[in-house]
Amino acid sequence: MPNIMEFVCELVNTKTEGFKCFFLLYNMSMINEYDYLVVGAGLFGAIVAHELHKKGHRVLVVEKRSHLAGNIYTEEVLGIQVHKYGPHIFHTNKKEVWDYVNQFATFNDFINMPLAYYKGKYYNLPFNMHTFEQVFGVKSPSEAKARIEKEIKEANIIAPKNLEEKAISMVGTTIYEMLIKGYTQKQWGKACDELPPFIISRLPVRYTYDNNYFNDAYQGIPIGGYTAIIEKMLQGIDVRLNTDYINNRQALDKKAKHIIYTGEIDRFFEYEFGALEWRSLRFVEEVIDQPDYQGHAVINYTEYEIPYTRIVEHQYFEPGLKHEKTVITKEYSSAWRVGDEAYYPINDEKNSALYARYVKLALERENISFGGRLGTYAYYNMDVIVEKALQLVTSLLTE
Ligand code: FAD
Ligand code: UDP
Repeated sequence: MPNIMEFVCELVNTKTEGFKCFFLLYNMSMINEYDYLVVGAGLFGAIVAHELHKKGHRVLVVEKRSHLAGNIYTEEVLGIQVHKYGPHIFHTNKKEVWDYVNQFATFNDFINMPLAYYKGKYYNLPFNMHTFEQVFGVKSPSEAKARIEKEIKEANIIAPKNLEEKAISMVGTTIYEMLIKGYTQKQWGKACDELPPFIISRLPVRYTYDNNYFNDAYQGIPIGGYTAIIEKMLQGIDVRLNTDYINNRQALDKKAKHIIYTGEIDRFFEYEFGALEWRSLRFVEEVIDQPDYQGHAVINYTEYEIPYTRIVEHQYFEPGLKHEKTVITKEYSSAWRVGDEAYYPINDEKNSALYARYVKLALERENISFGGRLGTYAYYNMDVIVEKALQLVTSLLTE
């Protein structure tokens, strides 16, 4: 008995237009095993894959790393959820975003209150009455304001042109020297007067006794870690780990009608105009043979002379559990070269112009959407990633 292809070929041979059309359609559906190929199993890719799959679309996810979850990957070590790519605290002001992520996990009530260590003493962050009391010995908001405003006035900065001027115009020179200057220089590998002011603008300055690092209405950490969220999102979806799209492009392009690409946009275009610049990080993890190390989740080291920027003690992201040993990570900021892990985009004028050229190329491509922090060359918190991924799904489904 002839198979379906032989049968169709025979019919096509009759050269009637209707059969040619049928043959074409049949072939197309054979070529595209999937409706969508999602490149990257980070938060952005996982949400897009989940929502498209939920609507009945056939989705394949490829991920070049050996694990799911991208940079929000958490791994259990000695019963502790370790944040492998830096501490991740979910926070948002949008109830719909909070409700969305709460479908996939129960979040605890963790509030981020990092401490800063400078020359043998601890200071509260973000800059608030506790910090002002510790630095200046002042007790009331009016005293603190008077002290800081005097320093700002003496610095005589009219319109801050760089991070140093912006920081001084926010908190004065003393706090800038103690808690900002060294940390920022380590973090970015550049002096503060060579950096744009916007980097520091996201830190709150409060004349109240409030150590909450964020101003958002909703905040927490998923109990059981972030990886479990991504696993839940990708349930029932075909996923291939250890698969780099760029190295398997020819075969993968044939698999789906549309690609959602969450890797680096310049790498997608083979660095045609040159590489976009990033700052990288190095994480050094240690198991400490005692139940506690620093008594706190995150401590920033603001002196330039101490080589790491912060120490994270992971057990405090899920407080209340008893552990015999504790796991810490020392985080070092480092220069980035093509091929290194990309963490913080250098969104200066040069790189923004370069990115705009890649966007132009991307707009010329049909059937591909770029998303996520790497695909759009932006530092986005997780809440923004959730919103942007859902927006992309809506636009794909209404095309
Ligand atoms: P990613 O998580 O990077 O996922 C992209 C995935 O694509 C990766 O797994 C990558 O391996 C894969 N990929 C890339 N190229 C290819 C390819 N060619 N083929 C196959 N796979 C590919 N946000 C917060 O809200 N709160 C925080 O406390 C917070 N802390 C942070 C701390 C640090 C140190 C950093 C750097 C970021 C932090 N963020 C935080 C931001 C958060 O990490 C991001 O919002 C989130 O990870 C972005 O998800 P994504 O899917 O866009 O990117
Ligand atoms: N910052 C600082 N001291 C600190 C914490 C932050 O000077 O103890 C500055 C630094 O320039 C940093 C910016 O504030 O890049 C934004 O801090 P955030 O915590 O948002 O991000 P980070 O870059 O530390 O991950």
